[in-house]
Amino acid sequence: MALRFRRPRGTEDILPERAGHWQFLEARIRNVMSRFGYREVRTPILEEAELFVRSVGEDTDIVSKEMYTFQDRGGRWMALKPEGTAPVVRAYLEHGFHRQGGLVKLYYLSPIFRYEKPQAGRYRQSHQFGAEAIGSGEPALDVEVIDLAMSIYREVGLSNFALLLNSVGCHKCRPAYREALLRFARAGQDQLCEDCRRRMEVNPLRILDCKEKGCRRTMVKAPVFSDYLCPDCRAHFEEVQGSLRDLGIPYRVEPRLVRGLDYYTRTAFEVVHGGLGAQNAIGGGGRYDGLVEELGGPSTPALGFAGGMERTLMALEAEGRLPERDEQVEAFVAYTDDPGKEVFPKVLSQLRRAGVGADGAYTVQSLKAQLRQANRKGARYVVILGGEELRRGKVVVRDMRRSEQEEVPLEEVLGFMSNKDRSVWGPQKYKGGR
Ligand code: AMP
Repeated sequence: MALRFRRPRGTEDILPERAGHWQFLEARIRNVMSRFGYREVRTPILEEAELFVRSVGEDTDIVSKEMYTFQDRGGRWMALKPEGTAPVVRAYLEHGFHRQGGLVKLYYLSPIFRYEKPQAGRYRQSHQFGAEAIGSGEPALDVEVIDLAMSIYREVGLSNFALLLNSVGCHKCRPAYREALLRFARAGQDQLCEDCRRRMEVNPLRILDCKEKGCRRTMVKAPVFSDYLCPDCRAHFEEVQGSLRDLGIPYRVEPRLVRGLDYYTRTAFEVVHGGLGAQNAIGGGGRYDGLVEELGGPSTPALGFAGGMERTLMALEAEGRLPERDEQVEAFVAYTDDPGKEVFPKVLSQLRRAGVGADGAYTVQSLKAQLRQANRKGARYVVILGGEELRRGKVVVRDMRRSEQEEVPLEEVLGFMSNKDRSVWGPQKYKGGR
């Protein structure tokens, strides 16, 4: 059969086997987020394109090359969201959170869309988990967000990851750094890629983010931010580092780390994983003290971070920490001939109503074939509706783990199953993490 339709390039179908991994990851993420006091927000998949032009910046790759934009039927320019922060800040302002005063802490799980060149670990539709803490400029809040990110990676079961940290200054000290960087870039511009030569004059910081070999080679000797930070930014950066040390969170200062987005100030960080090859960033974030104001709100310090779901799953796979199986079927109901077939729907339905995850084959098959299916589904128990037993008003309940079985009166099977230890098989339980 020739396939007529395929999924769009750079997108994935998450099939049931993998969906269990996603659910596992999402559940852990939600758990940590709420423990840290972050509440969920869900924003639309579409926004006005201008929101991202204003916040992310016109000359960024994300906006200039990667954004999925289109005109809707009313002639408005819309975009599929390429990142999660701007929509959250838009919602924060639209719903008047800024008028409540104080700190607002939100998290999201969301697909993002970027027209990138697909490769391992890079998709056109990918998924992010992220947190935003809006309303304080205190270094302690930077540390909370970093602690939150690190706790998530640790609690999903990862260990081979590292925190890279830098400060990208503020509107007071960045111009001088920018000047120094521009002078440096101009001197070595023959070595830079075409994009960087073009964007150099507009935003030389972006060259530090470029993945091209020539640019990377040139920029290893570029001036570093730490030589240009103003006293306030320097003190802020030192306080962040001091608290990280107090909390026992290891980090490495990466003096040329910048974030690809325009609205970042001061703290910038990235979390990289040792088992992923070229696309090794599993998350990143930082302060964006200018963004709320840029989007029309009052001047409000804030920061956040976003992690990649796909890359986190790849990292878990690289460390052999993915949960092996996730199926929820606790009991499999099997029948081999007529009297069994008749009571099968009722037994199945009643088990489910009693809270037992139950399933069956829905076709007449050999018992052996059905036991195999039960096994594949990870069912601890098989309720066998055998003709001979049913005529005596009984069914057989087989414990797959112990390879034992016993006869139970049909009317007692619900009570019997409800009192069983119906936990799924050992090997399909998650083995690692907390
Ligand atoms: P960013 O919004 O660019 O800071 O991305 C945050 C995280 O999202 C990155 O560290 C990646 O883990 C993930 N990510 C970003 N873009 C993609 C993509 N195109 N495909 C897969 N993961 C991505």
